[in-house]
Parts: sequence; structure tokens; C-alpha cells
Amino acid sequence: MTQLAWTMLPMSNCLFCKIIKGELPSKKVYEDEKVYAFHDINPGAPTHILIVPKRHVSGVNTASHEDAEIIGYSHLIAAKLAKERGIDDSGYRTVYNVGPDAGQSVFHLHLHLIGGRRMSWPPG
Ligand code: 5GP
Ligand code: ZN
Repeated sequence: MTQLAWTMLPMSNCLFCKIIKGELPSKKVYEDEKVYAFHDINPGAPTHILIVPKRHVSGVNTASHEDAEIIGYSHLIAAKLAKERGIDDSGYRTVYNVGPDAGQSVFHLHLHLIGGRRMSWPPG
């Protein structure tokens, strides 16, 4: 039997692990062997998609070198989804919120893809 490292296992009390496993509903926009992407339940823009690694990682603060690939890969998926929605030329934002000052509320790594309207900088 293949031995899985504990970090490979879904966290039973994690909201996004439950969504990935289909235990909670979501509006899926994309899935492959590495990531699951779905519409944010409380969108901040016409396009607001969360791109979530299937492997549980709590956030950028706890990411390891093992997670470097998924962090980069998630951006490539964001670019693909933005192109499919026709917002690649008008522009969009990709965001990892980290910790309380940034308002991180779900502790399973997720990249926000936000676009479809003009955004201000710096963010509020
Ligand atoms: P964070 O604040 O951690 O960067 O982002 C968490 C995001 O997850 C928020 O934008 C929030 O609206 C979204 N979210 C929280 N719970 C759910 C849920 O049950 N379903 C979906 N689709 N999005 C959720
Ligand atoms: Zn999780």
C-alpha cells in the first residue's frame, strides 16, 4: 500500500478540502489533478474565482519549497481562466491574502482571480 504523507491528506475540518471533495457545493469553473477552481460565494468583481490546490496547504506563510510549483501553476491557471473570460487584455488581479491584516479568512491556500471592472491601487 502506498504511504501518503500527512500533508497529502485532506483536512477533515477544512472548508475548501470539503468543497474539493464535493462534500460541500460549489460553482466549479475548472479542475485538473492539481487544482480546483470555483466562483467566490461573495464576489468582489464580475469575475471572482478562487484557484485552490487539491493538496491542503494552510497558506503562503506555511508553504514550503514543495509548494513552489503549485503557487506558480495557480497563476498559469488564473491566466487561462482570465483569457477564457475575455479579461486578459483589460486586466485582472491575482491575490494571495496572508494573515489578519490582509483579511485571510480561509486557511487553505487559494489564489483569488479578480477582474471585469476597474480596480484601485493600493487596495483598501
Ligand atoms: P480569504 O479572505 O481567505 O483570502 O478568501 C476566502 C474567500 O472565500 C472569500 O472571498 C470568501 O467570500 C470565500 N468563501 C468563503 N466561504 C466560501 C464558500 O463556502 N464557498 C465559496 N464559493 N466561497 C467561499
Ligand atoms: Zn484544506
